[in-house]
Amino acid sequence: MTHKSRTSNKRLHVLLIEDEPSDAEIEIAELRHGGFDVTADVVETGDQVRGRLGKNSYDVILADYSLPNFRGMDAVDILREKNLNTPLILVTGALNSETAVECVKQGAVDYVMKDNLARLVLCVRRALEDTRLRQERARAQEQLAHKVEELARSNCDLEQFAYVASHDLQEPLRMVAAYTQLLAERYRGKLDTTADRYIGYAVEGATRMQALLEDLLAFSRIGRNGVTPTPVDSNTAIEEVLRNLAITLKEHNVTITCNPLPTILADRFQVVQLFQNLIGNAIKFRGRQAPSVIISAEQHGEEWLFSIFDNGIGIASEHKEFIFKIFQRLHTRAEYPGNGVGLAICKKIVEHNGGRIWVDSELGRGSNFRFTFPAVLADKAGKKEDYELSAENLVSR
Ligand code: ADP
Repeated sequence: MTHKSRTSNKRLHVLLIEDEPSDAEIEIAELRHGGFDVTADVVETGDQVRGRLGKNSYDVILADYSLPNFRGMDAVDILREKNLNTPLILVTGALNSETAVECVKQGAVDYVMKDNLARLVLCVRRALEDTRLRQERARAQEQLAHKVEELARSNCDLEQFAYVASHDLQEPLRMVAAYTQLLAERYRGKLDTTADRYIGYAVEGATRMQALLEDLLAFSRIGRNGVTPTPVDSNTAIEEVLRNLAITLKEHNVTITCNPLPTILADRFQVVQLFQNLIGNAIKFRGRQAPSVIISAEQHGEEWLFSIFDNGIGIASEHKEFIFKIFQRLHTRAEYPGNGVGLAICKKIVEHNGGRIWVDSELGRGSNFRFTFPAVLADKAGKKEDYELSAENLVSR
C-alpha cells in the first residue's frame, strides 16, 4: 500500500511497520500535517520488512512495538544485518518506560505513544537531523582518513626521492670533488690568480655539496630501515656524546650539568645523534660567557619531558618553528658553520618515536630545547644524583 501527497514540503520516505491500517493512516496524516511530503510503504511481517529494505531506501522507519507476526524491534536486527543506518522510531500503544529505555539501548532512536502522536513530527525531525549530522561526520572522517593516507603516501614518496637523490648523487659528486681537488693541487700558482680563485670556488662548492648530501642522507635515513627500538639509558647516551665532543667541550670550557635521566625505548644511535645535535648547538651558538648546559628530564604522565638548557645567544620568538625546518638557519656560514639540518634531524627522530620537540627562548637569554619521549618503560631516572662535567673532569673520563 503506498500513500502520496502532492505538497511541495520536505520529502519523507517512510517504512511503516504497522498491522492496523487506521493507525498507519493517522501517522501519515500527522506527518503531512507537520509539513512532510510523505510517501510510505506499510508492511507487517519480517519478510516484508527485509524485502522492502532490500529494494528501497527510507528516511525513517516507524515501527509498532508488537504485531501479530513480528516485533518492531526485530527490524533493528534486520537493519544491522543489511548494514543500514536508517533511524527507527517505535510508535506504540502501550510501552512501559523500562521497556522503552531498553528499546532505545538496543538501537531504536526514540519512541512515541499512539495516544500522543503530536510528538511524532518532532521525533522524526530530530531523527532526520541526527542522521544528517552522523552522515556528515562520517563523510568528514572518511575525507580526513583519505587525506591522511594521501599525505602519508606523498611523504613517503618525497622521502624516497630525497634518499635516492642524495644517495645516487654522492658518487658523481665524489668524482667532481676529487678532480677539482686534483686541479687545485696540480695547477695552483701555474695558471693566473683568477684561475686559482675559480678552482678554489669549485673545490669549496663541491665540498659543501658533499656535506649537504651527507646531511640530507642522514635525515632521510631516519625511520627507513625499521630499526627495532631497545631500552636506551639516556645517561650513558649523554656520556657517549660528551666523549664525542670532548675536545670542543675542553676548548670552550663548557660546563655540563646533568640531572638523572630515564631509560627510554628508542634506537640508541638516534638518541646519541639527538643529544649530540642539541648539545653541539648549545656550544656552537654560545654567548659571551663560557657555555653552560643543563640537561634534565621529568615525567609528565605518559611521557618524559627532556630539557637541554643553554646560556647561549638565544632565538627570537618569530624563528622558533622555522629553525626546525630542513636547511633553514638564522646565520651565515661565515658567522656559524652548518647546513641547517641538525634540528630537522632532531625533530624527525623525536616525532618518529612519538614525541614532540620545541624551544623556549629569548634572544640573548639562552635557549631551552625541550622534547618528549613516551614513558613506555616503568623506570625511574637512572642515576641518583646530579653530576657536573667540566673541562677538568672531562679530561679524566
Ligand atoms: P645548523 O646548526 O647547521 O645551523 P640546526 O638545524 O642545528 O642547523 O639549527 C638551525 C638554526 O637554529 C641555527 O642556525 C641557529 O640559528 C638556531 N639554533 C639552533 N640551536 C641553537 C641554540 N642552542 N641557540 C641559539 N640558536 C640555535
